[in-house]
Amino acid sequence: MVGAGAWGLPTAAQLALRGHEVTLVDRYGVANLLSSSPGPTRVWRHADATPVLCRLGLRSVGAMDRLAARSGTEVYRKVGVLWRDHDPTRLLTTLREEEVEHVEVEAADVGRWLPGLVPDERPAVWTPLGGCVLAAASMAAQGRLFREAGGRLVRDEVIGIDAAAGSVELRDGGRMAADVVVVAPGPGAVALLPMLDVDVPLTPQLEQVVHFGSPDAPHRYDDVPCLFEGAYGASPGFYSMPTPGRGYKIGLDVAVRGWTPDDVDRTPSDERTHETAVEAARLGFISDPVLDAQICSWTDSPDGLFVIDRVGRVVLACGDSGAGFKFSALMGEILADLAEEGEPDADVGSLGLARFDGRPLVDRRSGHLL
Ligand SMILES: Cc1cc2nc3c(=O)[nH]c(=O)nc-3n(C[C@H](O)[C@H](O)[C@H](O)COP(=O)(O)OP(=O)(O)OC[C@H]3O[C@@H](n4cnc5c(N)ncnc54)[C@H](O)[C@@H]3O)c2cc1C
Repeated sequence: MVGAGAWGLPTAAQLALRGHEVTLVDRYGVANLLSSSPGPTRVWRHADATPVLCRLGLRSVGAMDRLAARSGTEVYRKVGVLWRDHDPTRLLTTLREEEVEHVEVEAADVGRWLPGLVPDERPAVWTPLGGCVLAAASMAAQGRLFREAGGRLVRDEVIGIDAAAGSVELRDGGRMAADVVVVAPGPGAVALLPMLDVDVPLTPQLEQVVHFGSPDAPHRYDDVPCLFEGAYGASPGFYSMPTPGRGYKIGLDVAVRGWTPDDVDRTPSDERTHETAVEAARLGFISDPVLDAQICSWTDSPDGLFVIDRVGRVVLACGDSGAGFKFSALMGEILADLAEEGEPDADVGSLGLARFDGRPLVDRRSGHLL
């Protein structure tokens, strides 16, 4: 298993639990600060206008519950998600078709679902299922399961992959051979895809999230729902969630800068922190100042959907497009199935490389042809 992030570690744990001998290789370690997976929380929503992500979101409920039961750890909080945008028609169509419980909310009524939220002229959609993934807790739980099942973690960098032989070459000069190599390298895919003869342009970027809160009242926001907002006037879209025991977290949906392999500076941008504080003040329900900020990476695929496929003896998972943590536990099961040569179901199959073969691509967010 190459990559110990939110997709790789659960896969390694799942394979080890199924009785396989698993070596997990990561150049910086589990959920490291240069990966896409550090930090305490992520939004967990089933409300997605893209049907396949909506369906996978529903499937992730079972996977998270299995993780919670197996590890005895709370791995998510169901506080609900409010989605506010000018035109929620596409989202509503998907929610109806996929039978996701939801409530259409009139613009003036948003405060009923998210107390204190200042109304504007936009309607909203409330989905009670969903909330926040307790990301760090879920990674710790997966790590424990992995270790207890006999998995081995190696800190090294993969600098070569032979998909036909099922082997990897390591920076320290070693080579490892396996029945199957699962590769979930986050932004590291940019360097690894050419080794698999895969030509899919990925765009990793650095994004920032900001916590608001007070050390005197760390539980003030524990039960506050998540909020998703589309762009509004000069305000960019954003996502936000409670981090239980800490505060309320907001991320603007705008990259701080592009990701490059040599850029290891993760110092938060003061300008971005200020912009986020301006958005927080507009919402009305956040009464606390900035507590902390963090930068991490995500990796956009050309159509904003994940790239999951098998190439020879390699199972590949990349292009998380900033939406991958909510599927972390499920991804472990999906990738382990693929590693065991299971046939992908229709949803997983639709995320394969074949979609890039001369077919028109549609942007997930806008629905426009790319
Ligand atoms: C600010 C921010 C907010 C987000 N918000 C949400 C949200 O609200 N909801 C949600 O669902 N998702 C969210 N995400 C996305 C989510 O965090 C990612 O989709 C997820 O963490 C991706 O995990 P990964 O395992 O694919 O990648 P990564 O976490 O990047 O893991 C890849 C690992 O591979 C290792 N690696 C790479 N190349 C090599 C190599 N050659 N050799 C050895 N090791 C290598 C790296 O060191 C890394 O540890 C957010 C992301 C960010 C940055």
